[in-house]
Amino acid sequence: GGRRWAAFFVPRAAAGRRVPPPHVHPFAIVMNLSSLGWDDFFASAFQSHASSGLLPARVAVEHRHACVLLSAAGDFTATCTGRLLHDTLDRSSLPAVGDWVAIQPRAGSARADGTAQADIHAVLPRRSAVSRGAPGGNHLIQVLAANIDTVFLVTGLDGNFNLRRIERLLTAARASGAQPVVVLNKADLHPDSRAAEASVKAVARTTPVAILSAACDPDLAPLEPWLLPGATVAFLGSSGVGKSTLINRLLGADRLATGTVSAAVGKGRHTTTRRELMVLPGGALVIDTPGLRELQLGEADDDDLASVFDDIAALAARCRFHDCAHEAEPGCAIRAALNDGTLDRSRWESYRKLCREQAYAARRVDLQLARASRDAWKKIHRAYRQRCQFERDSE
Ligand code: GDP
Ligand code: ZN
Repeated sequence: GGRRWAAFFVPRAAAGRRVPPPHVHPFAIVMNLSSLGWDDFFASAFQSHASSGLLPARVAVEHRHACVLLSAAGDFTATCTGRLLHDTLDRSSLPAVGDWVAIQPRAGSARADGTAQADIHAVLPRRSAVSRGAPGGNHLIQVLAANIDTVFLVTGLDGNFNLRRIERLLTAARASGAQPVVVLNKADLHPDSRAAEASVKAVARTTPVAILSAACDPDLAPLEPWLLPGATVAFLGSSGVGKSTLINRLLGADRLATGTVSAAVGKGRHTTTRRELMVLPGGALVIDTPGLRELQLGEADDDDLASVFDDIAALAARCRFHDCAHEAEPGCAIRAALNDGTLDRSRWESYRKLCREQAYAARRVDLQLARASRDAWKKIHRAYRQRCQFERDSE
């Protein structure tokens, strides 16, 4: 029951978020739930688990066989219960970084460094998820990060600068359910950064655009509107655009420079752990998982494309035929707009390319779904055979 774990809760006054001095491991200080991103959405999903005496915790690192969790009761190293693994038919439903989970701490497992062990009984529904089609095929979709509020889509205003890449990132981000913000970094390297910003705004449409220089600006004020206490953000974009530089500046320390957070544990033993969910000094949370950085189209669908290319969707709605292929049909509003220059030809080509990729990805997901349901049936049959065996043995 709930009382058994009461000792894991700290008094309210002690649970407030304090900014740790730089030499202290930030999670040695107990966090309260809302500073970890907890809100009514998760609280209502958690009700049934609360009545079973479970505690809420958030996944900070996902290893192959265990997760590191943050909670109001401190850190936990946790594994899924056999039952959760058994009832879960596809990998995308297992805990990912950013997920809220329902846990039962293991009695007597608390250690001096403030960590303890726990069992994960359930994964709460996600508000958003950045996913990709997992390589190898038989594991369906892989969730790279869950419950992100804002995704910063980072591009460098140097040789890397490309409007088509921004359209691609926007489409992929739209599918995640997180709010995208386009970040134009390395403003110092562009001869006319204001003109570049204007061309990006034309492509980003209603999506906010922030322009800055992570290396030169005295502060990162353009990002502040989204870095609210308890808000979860992530930085996406190609390698070299400045994601680590941005995150390091926000962390106020070179924590990512080596890709690790070092913590001396035990007598002379030095272990390195890499937190993938980190708390910024201002109280926002940042998720930085390796796979998250190079986002692919994954689960984007027709609606996601239509919302990113809403100008094209509006034009297509004006074609004479509702199934117009925009090739040679009379009364095609798209061709008319291309001819008079209202629609940029490279934007149109970018849209067509993303449509083709999206259709290809959707077919691949369908195939994987078919395979997954076959695997699910195999699992059910196996369980059935085992039960029959058990019943025979116990006769
Ligand atoms: P990541 O791969 O996206 O994490 O990129 P990094 O943060 O490692 O940055 C790649 C390179 O770009 C590094 O050499 C940074 O110092 C440099 N860089 C990052 N931000 C800026 C910037 O605003 N201006 C300039 N000139 N260089 C930057
Ligand atoms: Zn048309």
